[in-house]
Amino acid sequence: MVEHLKTYGVISSEKVAEVMEGIDRAFFVPDGNAPYYDSPMPIGYNATISAPHMHATCLQLLEENLQPGMHALDVGSGTGYLTACFALMVGPQGRVVGVEHIPELVASSISNIQKSAAAPLLKEGSLSVHAGDGRLGWPEHAPYDAIHVGAAAPEIPQALIDQLKPGGRMVIPVGSIFQDLKVIDKNLDGSLSVRNETSVRYVPLTSRDVQLRGG
Ligand code: SAH
Repeated sequence: MVEHLKTYGVISSEKVAEVMEGIDRAFFVPDGNAPYYDSPMPIGYNATISAPHMHATCLQLLEENLQPGMHALDVGSGTGYLTACFALMVGPQGRVVGVEHIPELVASSISNIQKSAAAPLLKEGSLSVHAGDGRLGWPEHAPYDAIHVGAAAPEIPQALIDQLKPGGRMVIPVGSIFQDLKVIDKNLDGSLSVRNETSVRYVPLTSRDVQLRGG
């Protein structure tokens, strides 16, 4: 899978290739699905695990902000795949927090991570996954060098902007039917630089009730 993504130019970073090879998707996709197929897959609760090429794109966009020792927040952490990749990037001196509002997915993501190469980081506490409304971020370990949002927001939540460190970067899909993957850099003076990376299709960042009703 990683070789394929390299051949097609999706992965150009050796570090990202190494991390995606290190975290085996087979532990994260529900049984009966082809883990290395480049497509999103349903994980229950009206949610999906993102396609490998989207995981690769987000890791590359955030690579500079996922250096050893840095802090990262993964909102809508779902299966925990990308959260685990972030943890391998920042290492034991870093801090990675996943926030997911479906408690059952929090529980299954923790057991997925326990089977993966990120298990020691979960055990030592540099990686944690919590049940909560990710629109509020996770103030305890803020400010973050990297914030990833795995669900599409109607607008960028202010709490996430507030929890982004000056010099930090957030990658977030914004929109409803038509969505742009936005890259938001917080400059050292606190101002924001925003650009659109690509058009995407993510599940909505919403309340648990709305999501479980099917939007
Ligand atoms: N990156 C994850 C994506 C999962 S899909 C993966 O690849 O596995 C998006 C996730 O966002 C879903 O699990 C959904 O339950 C969650 N979500 C949606 N709105 C949320 C909110 N307000 N707070 C926390 N999680 C949310």
